[in-house]
Formats: sequence, structure tokens, C-alpha cells
Amino acid sequence: MSGRQLLDGVLVANELVHFKTKEKKECFLFKVDFEKAYDKVSWSFLRFMLLNMGFGDLWLSWMEATVFSSKISILVNSGPTKELLVERGLRLGDPLSPFLFLIVVEALPVLVKRSLDLGEFAGFNINDVCNIDILQFDDDTLMVWDGNRKSKKESLWWRDLLKLNSDNADSNAAGISKLFHWKLGKGDRIPFWFGRWLGAEPLCAAFPNIFDAVENPKAAVEELGNWTDSVWHWDIHTALILNHGVEHSEIADLEALLAGISLNSATLDKPCWPWDSCGYFSVKSCYAKLLQGQDASPIDPSYKSCLNVVWDSLIPQKVKLFGWRLLRNRLATRDQLIRRGILEGDDNCRCPLCNSAAESSEHLFLRCNWSVRIWADIWGWLGILPLRNNASTNCRSHFLSTFHALNNKVGKGREVSVWLATCWCLWNARNGIIFNNETLDIDEILFKIKMLTWWWLQIGLNRLNCNFYEWFKNPLNFL
Ligand SMILES: [Zn+2]
Repeated sequence: MSGRQLLDGVLVANELVHFKTKEKKECFLFKVDFEKAYDKVSWSFLRFMLLNMGFGDLWLSWMEATVFSSKISILVNSGPTKELLVERGLRLGDPLSPFLFLIVVEALPVLVKRSLDLGEFAGFNINDVCNIDILQFDDDTLMVWDGNRKSKKESLWWRDLLKLNSDNADSNAAGISKLFHWKLGKGDRIPFWFGRWLGAEPLCAAFPNIFDAVENPKAAVEELGNWTDSVWHWDIHTALILNHGVEHSEIADLEALLAGISLNSATLDKPCWPWDSCGYFSVKSCYAKLLQGQDASPIDPSYKSCLNVVWDSLIPQKVKLFGWRLLRNRLATRDQLIRRGILEGDDNCRCPLCNSAAESSEHLFLRCNWSVRIWADIWGWLGILPLRNNASTNCRSHFLSTFHALNNKVGKGREVSVWLATCWCLWNARNGIIFNNETLDIDEILFKIKMLTWWWLQIGLNRLNCNFYEWFKNPLNFL
């Protein structure tokens, strides 16, 4: 690209960090690493980008011939296996690949631009004319945003974290720093009265009467005493306003508490995370702390076996993950989006299929009129009686009862794929309506469910020897 140099990105990043340190501004840097970037380029997405960037028919036909028609075979004992169809990946070493890769990653700045326009994201302002949001060089990406900008939609995780500081429940980020306890070193960084360095609460709360008489409430620990012949001596009296009438017994209590504690001029004061044995913050210890006192009942065994069946089934990884999220009620249905503060009360929270009831995974997958129709058809197809579906049925119990109903007829958890395919197709239909303005087509969904299960089992089980037509007519003959 004319006017651009190879080092531009590095220089901008370097200058940015320098600027924010010099100006004492807060900024958030997020370095993205693409895992196996070239291998994972989806051809359908590349095609989509090429079309949308206006590449001509001739060029597209060249791409079809050179990139999208590749096949691979694997060498086993020096002989090539049957050729495999590929749907993704750019060849390393092909001079064309870097350019195609750039076209694919160009989608990210477009998405960033869109969230900037929507106000969901704010880049880092250097001045009125210069703003940085994303820096990209090939597969290296650095996202930059303003660390001071308070989002009105705080994440659930952040809100939980704030709850830890229960005596200051609605404070902001400053609350978190109060969770840290200080480990005494030189004593120059710790506020004597406000810091949590001696016991669970700050000394201003433990000794309120003495604190009232203090001349400098913001004094650091090192100001409350002195070194004499390399021995540290505490001196509370000189820190107090004269004749303020503090009980001697109270001062004696404080002195007793301080007795035996000495500063250490060789080490720095260090903040310590109190719930970790080494004093370091870790998400694990924080999570354990958050769970404390909540009813963190152990996962019940039927539920656990239910998840294991999903992991062991013969379906693509992304559908397994989808199933796991569904059974743990972690899908981003609209009720969950409200709970996480992503949608707000006045946003549309109705089910996109029927557009009447509020959307939850129970409604979307079990109770919506459209999904009820789909399940009825699928059960008819599998030759089992419709399952009881009352107000107390949730996705998990529905999954288990489908599984048990089928398990008497067939074995080895293959039937799980039918249940998951049904939910997966409903979920995709729902997303199609929301994001692509598609319309609901029940027959198409039913066809997709039957086709996907046939396809998954065909790949997962070498024994499923039937064509799609036979499968479509009577799946139980082949399961
Ligand atoms: Zn509905």
C-alpha cells in the first residue's frame, strides 16, 4: 500500500503506550492471536468477502479454480489415501495466500467501525483529530480502547466482583482495590489509617476515637514512627492534635497491636490478594470466593451423565458446545441477554419465532407453538409417543426423557444427535430471523434436522449404510 511502511503499526503502538504513560491516561490494550490463522480461513467467508468487496466474475472464477477446488489426501505408508474435500484453509507458501488472508481479516475493522458507530465501543483518543481503535498487521491484531470510559452496561462478572466488597456494594473500580490487603515493607505506600494492612479492617474503623484526633489522616505508615539505631519505633502521640482528649487506654490498645511489627526498609509495600496463599490475584480464587456462601450445590448425577452423553455423541464439536450451553442454560437467549445487562428492559425481548411470549430457552426450544409442531413431527418420524411437555419441563428434563424414550429402542447414544439437531436447527432458524431477516419455514427446518442427523451419523459411524431417502423414510431401521 503506497505511503505505508512495514513498521508503521509497531511505531503507532509504541507511541501510543508512551503517550498514555506520559499523560497518565488509562487505556486498554487487547492483543489478539489467531490460532492457526491460515488453516482456519473459511472458504465461504472468503467468497463472501470477495463478493462484497466487488471482485469481478473473472477473478472469482480464478479463485474457484485455484483456491476453492483444492482437495487433499494423506500419505499413509507412502501411499496417498482417498482424496478429501476441504472447506477451509489457505496454502502456506502460496504467494496469493497473504493477500487473501488480508481480505478475510479486513472484516474485523469493519465490525469495529460498526460498534464505534453504535456507541458500543470507544477507541483511545490522542487528541481531537486522532483516535486509535484497532491496529492490524497480517495476523497480528491489537485493539485499543479508552480505559476511563465507563460502560453503562457492566458485565455480570464485573458486577459479581463488586459484590465481593460487600460493605461498599455500589462503588466502582476503586472498590476492588480495597479488597487487596497490604503486605508491609518500607511503609511509604500504605496509608496508615485507611489501608488494610493490620487486621481485616482499616485502623480508622478499628480506632475511630483516635482517628478523630489525628492531624494528618492521609499519613503513610512510615510517618507514624522513626528509625533509631536501625530499630523501628512507633510514635502515635506526635501524630495526634494536642489536648484532643483521647483515652490513654485506647492508645495503649493501638500500641499493643503495633508492638512487634516493624517496617522493613529493604522491601516495597505490596498489595496482596487475601484469598490466595501466595497473595496473587487469580480468577480461580476469586471465583471460589464468589461461590462461598452461595448455594453451590454439586451437579446432580443425572445432569452430569446428560452432559457426558453430549460430549460422547457423534456430532460436530460446535454442536456439542451448543448442546452443553443449552443444557446449562448459557445460551444467549433474550432473557439471558437482559440478565447480563446487554439488552435493556425496553428492548425487544420477545421470541423471534412467534413474536408473542418472552424468549427463554425453555420457550424457544420447548413451548413455542412452532417448536411444539417441530417436536411432534420429529417424534412421529422416530416412532415414539410425544413426550409430556408441561410447565415444569426444562431443556434438561426434556433431553433426558427423549433420551430414555429412545434408549429402549436404540442404543449407544446416537439418538442424542436427533435431539441436538432439532435444537440446533431451531437455534439457527431463530438467528436467521434476527440477523438475516429470514422467514420461518417449518418444512425446511424439518428437512434440515433429518439431513443433518443422517450426515453426522454417516461421518461418525461407518456402519450407517443407507442413503438419505431410506433414512428419511425410517430412521429407526438404521440407528
Ligand atoms: Zn415463541
